[in-house]
Amino acid sequence: MELEASGVTVRFGGIRAVEDVSLRLAEGEIVGLIGPNGAGKTTLVNVLSGFQRPRTGQIRVGGENARGWSAHAFARRGVVRTFQAVRLFSGLTVAENVETALLSTGVGRAAARTRARDILGYLHLAERADMGASALSYGDERRVGIARALAMEPKFLLLDEPAAGLNIGEAEELGKTIAGIRDDFGCGTLVIEHNMALVTNLCERLHVLATGRTLAEGTPAEVMSNPAFKDAYLGAAA
Ligand code: ATP
Repeated sequence: MELEASGVTVRFGGIRAVEDVSLRLAEGEIVGLIGPNGAGKTTLVNVLSGFQRPRTGQIRVGGENARGWSAHAFARRGVVRTFQAVRLFSGLTVAENVETALLSTGVGRAAARTRARDILGYLHLAERADMGASALSYGDERRVGIARALAMEPKFLLLDEPAAGLNIGEAEELGKTIAGIRDDFGCGTLVIEHNMALVTNLCERLHVLATGRTLAEGTPAEVMSNPAFKDAYLGAAA
């Protein structure tokens, strides 16, 4: 089963945020979506998860045309995303934050409670379950964001800069967690990430955007040796 974007274009007024981009994500693989600031990465993830309608192009989920689907419809079909800034309900406990994600997709209250505990245990957050979400450390807050996504049993998990703000040790730990999720749940994972060490270790394939267009794609080794990538990416980083 695949999540597939073909020929996707998004414009905001005169800005070409995403221009004719095609990308495929299969279950069980981890793909890195990289590129300089403003390249269109978040916009593409928004399109792939129903948070943004493309101006042209098509999204298919398991071969089904997703035209007109709401974000909830994407989630029900297993396309689940996280946000750059984790949006937890500060007045609720950690477990309740995971439960609300499940309730919003129509899971019953008792099942939501059980599944939330299971997933928090899996992510080594069991002892945080009854804590108020506002008392979490930054790193744990980000893990709860992933727990909310994972509780929804994704077939495709789209992670928007999951390592942002983490230190090197925490980022490495997160890389292991993401690889473990793929191994244990078999979902296809798309990771927006600026940390090149993390993406090259973690991802089978990379898709590079620059000013809305696909600049390069392939294995990390192929992308690293691609002259267009070297020019644009090292130029942007300098
Ligand atoms: P970053 O790495 O900084 O998060 P990005 O690669 O995710 O960047 P996007 O956030 O997708 O890039 O933005 C792509 C372009 O579209 C940028 O020029 C941005 O300013 C613009 N843009 C994004 N969202 C909107 C919006 N809602 N309205 C207007 N312009 C937008």
